[in-house]
This record gives sequence, structure tokens and C-alpha cells, in this order.
Amino acid sequence: MSRVLIIGAGGVAGVVVKKCAMLPEYFSEIHLASRTVSKCEKLQQEAGKDRVVGVYKVDADNADEVAKLIREVKPALVINVALPYQDLPIMDACLETNVHYLDTANYEPKDEAKFEYSWQWAYQDKFKEKGLMALLGAGFDPGVTNVFTAYAAKHYFDEIHYLDIVDCNGGDHGQAFATNFNPEINIREITQRGKYWENGQWIETDPISVREDLDYPNVGVRPSYLLFHEELESLVKHFPTLKRARFWMTFGDQYLTHLRVLENVGMTSIQPIEFNGQKIVPLEFLKAVLPAPESLAEGYTGMTCIGTYVTGIKDGQEKTIFIYNNCDHAVCNDEVGAQAVSYTTGVPAMIAASMMLQNHWMKPGVWNMEQFDPDEFMERLNKYGLPWQVVECESPFKR
Ligand code: NDP
Repeated sequence: MSRVLIIGAGGVAGVVVKKCAMLPEYFSEIHLASRTVSKCEKLQQEAGKDRVVGVYKVDADNADEVAKLIREVKPALVINVALPYQDLPIMDACLETNVHYLDTANYEPKDEAKFEYSWQWAYQDKFKEKGLMALLGAGFDPGVTNVFTAYAAKHYFDEIHYLDIVDCNGGDHGQAFATNFNPEINIREITQRGKYWENGQWIETDPISVREDLDYPNVGVRPSYLLFHEELESLVKHFPTLKRARFWMTFGDQYLTHLRVLENVGMTSIQPIEFNGQKIVPLEFLKAVLPAPESLAEGYTGMTCIGTYVTGIKDGQEKTIFIYNNCDHAVCNDEVGAQAVSYTTGVPAMIAASMMLQNHWMKPGVWNMEQFDPDEFMERLNKYGLPWQVVECESPFKR
């Protein structure tokens, strides 16, 4: 039985739903639930009623409500592509109803812009005892970048020492300011202090203060800024030979100028304020006026390039490889009506779900992507829309 329940109906969910719908051999029956049921109905219409057989309204902040829905649908797996705030209630509901779990972003509390794995790793014993599996961070970054690292370690090195994950969006959506995934989560992430791993400890930096101009295949040179990103936490744990691990993301000047102004006037704050007799959170209000990620797809041009530079030792020699994917916004739009950031997140989630349902990746407990054999997953990336390249190269980074 490979019935799945997908929770969330935004940009990423649209891709997961449509890609799962194309693969009845992996996903026999798809059910879709979210806070706004009309968005589920629209996706059902687009993916076909014969494939998305049920749509439901659910508040996934409420574990009891999710458990009730799971009992009604009886899926083998819940794919959580709502927001990170819902991770723990959905995991609780899966435990209560004996169902496997997968997500693409780690938990963070709504009232504190802080993401880390501790909350979800704490579920390890509970999932193990019940014989259930939870797979965390199954998007592109985290997700594919973890698998790229595992693949490099398995096939190219005896020991890996330096890791630089690079995330470039070389596309143009034509909007003055918009975020490519949920604006609230995106802005919380990039306005935090930066952090990277070096010689056994975390080193903090001011937000968006460390820059490298990197040359991305099929995109060109782009300013790239050091950020903390959640896969660094699991990768340094699971690859203890790493001496340094960092994450870089590209931002254009226009984006950074808008962000600075919004920050300066208080619009990115998550502290509630009194407005016209009610409490509102400025960042939640900002999200409401910014374009939804799925609305950017039409007319989006250019490519993303996301990958991992890995430097390590093979047969006594130091070398560097770069494993990466290029993804074209317009091609994604033609295929599933999505932009490339939603696509590069949704396709890996679909593939990881297929790997779990087919028992390629199935063991009780709570796991990150790099903890499984990467080979079949890498093959499926090539097969289902995210082909990758490996090049041996000079590292573009100074030591
Ligand atoms: P969107 O804002 O487009 O979609 C989020 C969806 O979740 C919306 O449909 C929303 O409902 C629904 N939702 C929010 N709260 C609830 C709730 N309490 N109960 C039920 N449904 C709820 O975001 P994206 O699709 O861009 O992102 C989805 C996830 O993917 C996020 O967690 C994001 O961090 C992650 N992500 C991961 C990446 C990776 O590479 N690993 C990259 C990009 C994103 P409504 O329609 O009512 O607002």
C-alpha cells in the first residue's frame, strides 16, 4: 500500500502533488490537506481527481486534528510540506497513528527565529520503539545537498575535510521584491546571524556580512553570502572528519536593499504589535502583502545552481570536487506550473518518499538524508527532473 497524505498546499506542495501524481507505480493514492482547502481543490483539479482522491481542511498546528485525519485517510506516509512550525504536531500525530513521516525543513518555534534539529532528534527513541521512520529535511538544501555530500564521501574520497554548500538563484521573476519560498520562513532565516563550523566549533558572523563572488556553471559570477543553514548541523555530526563546513547563498543588490529597508522600519520583526485594537506580527503582515511563491512561476527566466564543493583526501592526495544541479525556472513552469525553487524542493521530497515506500530507505528512527546510501536517490534525481554533474576542480575558496 503506497497511499500518501500530503500536508500543505503552497509552492512546494504543488510540485510534490503533481510529481507524485505522475508516478502511480510509487504512489497508488494521493490525499491532500491544508489550512485553506480551496488551494487543495485547485491542486486536485490540476493533478487530476483520479490521482488526488481526497482533499481536506486541517490545522496542522493541532496534533489531534491531524491524527483524526490520518485515521480517516489511513496513509502509509505523511509528507509534510506545510511550514516548520507544524513539524512537531505532525510528528506527534504520526506517532499516535503509526504512520511514517517526511519533511523538508526543520522545526522552529513561531515566537523565536531559531531552527535546529534538537527538537526533532529528540523523537528518535519514540519513532524507533514504534518501528516508524521519520526522514528530516528532504528538499534540496537541506536534502539533496546532504546526499551530494554522502555521495562524494562514498565514491570520491577516503576522508572529507572541507565542505562549502552553494545556493545560487540566477533567475529573474520580474518583481521588485519577492521570496522564492514562504516569505516568513525565508526572511527569518536570512536575517539571523551567520554561523559556520571550523575546527570543532561554531563560529558566528553578523548577518549577510561575509561575501565571496563565486562563478556558477551556466549562471556566471554572483555575490554569495555566508549564512547558517540547517544541513550544516547534521552534516558535521555525521561526517566528523570535516574541519570546516559552510553555506553560501546568492542575493542581488536590489533584494538586499529592500530587505535592509524592511528591517530598518521594523517590518521583519516577529514581536507582536498593537494595531487597530488587535495584535499583529509585522513579518506575518509583510508575508500577506508579498507575492506567494507559487505565483512567481509564470514568466520567471534563468536558472538555479545548487551544489556542494567537497575537498578531502583520496589515496593520500588532496582534491576537490563540485557536485551540482542546474534547474531552469521556465522548464519547471512548463512541466508542473512551478518556479525552480519550489521544483528543486518538491522533486527530492517526492523521490525520498518513493525511497521510503519502496523500502530502499526504511529504518525505524529519526534520520537525516546523508545517513542512507545515496546511489539510488542520485539515480532518481537524474530520472525525475534534477540531473546533476560532478567536476574535479580547484577549490574557489581560500583556507
Ligand atoms: P508556502 O507558504 O507556499 O506554503 C505553505 C503551505 O502550508 C500553505 O499552503 C499553508 O496554508 C500551509 N500551512 C501553513 N500553516 C498551516 C497549518 N497550521 N495547517 C495546515 N497547513 C498550513 O511555502 P513553500 O511551499 O514555499 O514552503 C513549504 C515548506 O518547504 C516550508 O517549510 C519551507 O521552509 C520548505 N522549503 C524547503 C526547502 C529545502 O530545500 N529544503 C526550500 C524551500 C522551502 P495557507 O495556504 O492557508 O497559507
